[in-house]
Amino acid sequence: MKILVVNCGSSSLKYQVFEMTAKTVLAKGLVDRIGLTGSSLTHTREGRDKTEIACEAQNHGDAVQIVIDALLHPDYGVVTSLREIDAVGHRVLHGGQKAIGSMLITAEVKEIIHECFALGPLHNPANLAGINACEKLMPGTPQVAVFDTSFHQTMPPEAYIYGLPYELYEKYGIRRYGFHGTSHKFIALQAPAFLGRKAAEVKLISCHLGNGSSLAAVRYGKCVDTSMGLTPLEGLVMGTRSGDLDPTIVSYIVEKAKIPERKVNDYLNKESGVLGISGVSSDFRDLEKAANDGNARAQLALDIFAYHVKKYIGSYAAAMGGADIIAFTAGLGENSPRMRRDVCRGLEFLGARLDDGRNEATRGKDADISTADSTCKILVIPTNEELMIAMDTHEIVSR
Ligand code: AMP
Repeated sequence: MKILVVNCGSSSLKYQVFEMTAKTVLAKGLVDRIGLTGSSLTHTREGRDKTEIACEAQNHGDAVQIVIDALLHPDYGVVTSLREIDAVGHRVLHGGQKAIGSMLITAEVKEIIHECFALGPLHNPANLAGINACEKLMPGTPQVAVFDTSFHQTMPPEAYIYGLPYELYEKYGIRRYGFHGTSHKFIALQAPAFLGRKAAEVKLISCHLGNGSSLAAVRYGKCVDTSMGLTPLEGLVMGTRSGDLDPTIVSYIVEKAKIPERKVNDYLNKESGVLGISGVSSDFRDLEKAANDGNARAQLALDIFAYHVKKYIGSYAAAMGGADIIAFTAGLGENSPRMRRDVCRGLEFLGARLDDGRNEATRGKDADISTADSTCKILVIPTNEELMIAMDTHEIVSR
């Protein structure tokens, strides 16, 4: 079975084609600058060089057509007819409370995605546009929506209800939803499997540490808490996002720092986090280099980040009554031994003991980086959200 995975952003469309028997990638690529001048397609057929082509993509419909043309291309394509694509899996940011898992796309599912436009204003409209375009250009091919929020829908109310008047939840759906669900789900399956254990028997803390970062507490395969909230702004300090704040700071900075109210969301999402603290960069490679060169604020930003992750790990161990696995993933989690070392320092009370040599030697591959006597295993598990989307899509269309 061949599955096309589509991830539409506001001005981009990323795609991968999987062959599900061996779970291999046949082709992948990106249509960039949709709706802008100078759109381009970058396409790679497995085992071949990258093809880069200037194109015109006024909207997501054009972008899907460009992808289809690439997939059918006699030279760098991977199918001879669109009928060879058995299903399309779409990444969808927000599914609200109604999307409790991945769903075969119907009019009702499209309505759910539409209802969540206010909660995911940049992504959900683009996701729906991609779905509509695929429906039009690939009629009869089943399509599946895989939501970033749905893995977290198993959280109990004490984890997702805010300390606000309850009617705000009832009337407006203001609650913790959580994000990076596809990544956390992948880790929740892959980390126990790597140890030869079953997801249903372990308490896992999944640490997705990238430019956007979140943690999830996963007890016996089900998410019981996560650090992002109504939007991805809550939780850890991130590349450019503030993470947890005293909410009064918002009105205070409007009044004192004269930041216009309409700009506060951008300020907290794009100018804060380790970028705002360090004044150097949101990229952790730049921060590590600057800290090595003696930049005190870069070091402070790294220290704050590691401290936040450690605090969340401690609280999730408390929430689950312990932890059997701490798994690191995403750009930073997979590639920065230094950050993993700083996070794990002091977690020995949980039975989590880092093996310094293994940690130093591990970048971007599945590995156990804890000592043999560590009762809580510390793992590095590279995430693969596209494969997870393909697996969910495969499972749903095979029912
Ligand atoms: P992601 O959002 O998962 O793509 O992760 C991006 C983040 O991972 C960026 O802040 C990168 O600086 C960070 N990252 C990637 N590779 C490394 C590395 N070798 N050392 C430190 N940080 C890294």
